[in-house]
Amino acid sequence: MTDQLSKTRVVILGGGTAGWMTAAALVNQLGHACDVQLIESEEIGIVGVGEATLPHIRYFVESLGLDEAEFMKATHATFKLGIDFHDFGRIGSHYLHPFGSFGAPLNDVPFHHFWLRLQAEGRGGALWDTSICNIMAAGNKFAPPPPGSSLYNYAYQFDATLFGPYLRGYSIARGVTRTEGKVVEVEQDGESGDIIALKLENGKRIEGDLFVDCSGFRALLIGQTLKENWEDWSRWLLCDRAVAMPCEAANDKIGPFTGVHAMSAGWRWRIPLQHRVGNGYVYSSAHMSDADAEDALVAAVEGAPMAEPRVLKFRAGRRERSWSKNVVAVGLASGFLEPLESTSIYLVQGAIAQLIEMFPIGPVRDQDRDEFNRVTDAEYDRIRDFLILHYNATVRDDSDFWNHVRTMEVPDTLHEKMELWRRSARVAKYSQGLFFEPSWVAVYIGQGVIPDGWDERADLPGSSELETAVGRVRKQVSDAVCAMPDHANFIRMRNASIERPA
Ligand SMILES: Cc1cc2nc3c(=O)[nH]c(=O)nc-3n(C[C@H](O)[C@H](O)[C@H](O)COP(=O)(O)OP(=O)(O)OC[C@H]3O[C@@H](n4cnc5c(N)ncnc54)[C@H](O)[C@@H]3O)c2cc1C
Repeated sequence: MTDQLSKTRVVILGGGTAGWMTAAALVNQLGHACDVQLIESEEIGIVGVGEATLPHIRYFVESLGLDEAEFMKATHATFKLGIDFHDFGRIGSHYLHPFGSFGAPLNDVPFHHFWLRLQAEGRGGALWDTSICNIMAAGNKFAPPPPGSSLYNYAYQFDATLFGPYLRGYSIARGVTRTEGKVVEVEQDGESGDIIALKLENGKRIEGDLFVDCSGFRALLIGQTLKENWEDWSRWLLCDRAVAMPCEAANDKIGPFTGVHAMSAGWRWRIPLQHRVGNGYVYSSAHMSDADAEDALVAAVEGAPMAEPRVLKFRAGRRERSWSKNVVAVGLASGFLEPLESTSIYLVQGAIAQLIEMFPIGPVRDQDRDEFNRVTDAEYDRIRDFLILHYNATVRDDSDFWNHVRTMEVPDTLHEKMELWRRSARVAKYSQGLFFEPSWVAVYIGQGVIPDGWDERADLPGSSELETAVGRVRKQVSDAVCAMPDHANFIRMRNASIERPA
C-alpha cells in the first residue's frame, strides 16, 4: 500500500504527444503510487506532426478506458490498415505493407513459402490478393475485425494537434497538475547528478523524484543537462529534413491507409484524416534544397493547401541511454527514426509501458534502468534495420540519393537478415517488439527481393491442389471485403451514432 506521503513525485517536461501520453498512462495505472506534474510551454509549442500510427495504439486507447468512437471523432481520426508504398523497389512499383498476414499458414508453414513455390512454377498470381487489408484498402472499405480474430488489425490516423489536448483533458480530470511556462534552469544534486528541481522563467521551482524528459528535439534534461550521448545513424538514414503542409481532401473518398511515395531525394507522406489530408516530404538536405523540396511537395498535393509549408530538421539516431540517473526520456528527446513506418508514437507507447513496469517506488534501481535501456535499444535497432531495407532493396538509379542508398553498406544485423531471406525465405524471429514476419515479407517481396528457395515442406502438396487452396484463400478474402462498408461512410455513421441522444 502506498500512502500519500510516500508517493513518487513525477515531473514530466513537455506537453506534446509524448508528454500527455505519459501523463495519461501514469495517472491511469499508477495514480495511487505517484503524483504527476506536467510542464509545457505554449511559447515553444509542439512539433505538431505525427499523425499516422501502428495497431498498438488501439491498446493504449483501450487501456485508458476511452471510447474509440468518441476519441476518433474528437481527433478527426480515420482508420489505417497499412502503408501504401509507391516507387520504392522501382519507379512504377506499388505494394501495401498490411496490418495482417498474407493468406494463412498451411500445416504450420507460413503461406508465403507456398506462394513462392507457385510463383516459381509461373502460377503464383498476386500475393497481395491474399491479404484482406490490401483488398479492403484498394476498395476504400473498412470494418473492424470480428472480436478475437487475428486475421487483420488496424491503427488510427489522427490530428496531431488534437491528440495531446485530448489526453490533457483526460489526465487533468484524473489528477495530473499542469504548469504552463518555460523551464530555464535545471537543478542537480552535486553528488549524484540526479535532477532535483526545474526552475521556470517566472521564478517557480518544481521539485521531483523522477523526471520524464518529453521536451522533444530540445532534449533539455537527457541531452542538454545529463549530456547522454547520441548515437548517429545518418550514414544509413540520410533524410534529415521534412517539409509539411496540410491540404483539403480532393474528394469524399478516404483511403484507410497512409500513402508514401518515393521521391528523388527521399519520400512523401499522405495521411487522410476526416477533415483534411496531412502531407510532407522527408528528404536529405545533402541531395535537395528546402526550396526544391517545398516546390515538389506543393506540386504533388491533391487538394488546396491549408497552411504554408513548414520545414522541420532532425537527425536519425537515438540516445545511448534513454534512462539516465533519475531522468527517463520519452519521445523525440529519446531518439528519432523517420516516420516511413509510423514508428515514433509506437516507441513512445513502448517506453511508457516499460516505465510503468519498472516504476521506481523509492530510489531508482540500476537493474531496472539497465533493463529499460536494453529493451529500448533493441526496439530502435530493429526498426532502424527495417527502415534501411526500404532504401537498400531497390533497383532505382535515377538520382544521387537512390544511387547512394542502393549501394551503401547496411548494418551487419540487416545484412544477416537479408541473407537469411535470400537463401530460404525465412524471417529472423524475435518474440517482442515491432515488425514480425508478414511485415518483412511485404517489404522484401514488394520491393523485388525474391529468395532463391523456400521451406522444403512447401514442396509437399501437388501443384493443382496448392493452386486450388490459394484460389480458395483469394475468394474468401474477396467475399469478406465485398460485404464491408465504405470507410468514409463507416466513420460518418459512427460519428452520427455518438451525436444521437441515448
Ligand atoms: C516530420 C515528422 C513526421 C512525423 N510523423 C510521424 C508519424 O506519422 N507517426 C509517428 O508515430 N510519429 C511521427 N513523428 C514523430 C512524432 O511527431 C513524435 O514522436 C511525437 O509528436 C512526440 O513528440 P514529443 O512529444 O516528443 O515532442 P514535441 O511535440 O516537440 O513536444 C515537446 C514539448 O516540450 C515542451 N518544451 C520543450 N522545451 C521546454 C522548456 N524549456 N520548458 C517548457 N516546455 C518545454 C514543448 O513546449 C512541447 O510541449 C514525426 C516526426 C516528424 C519530425
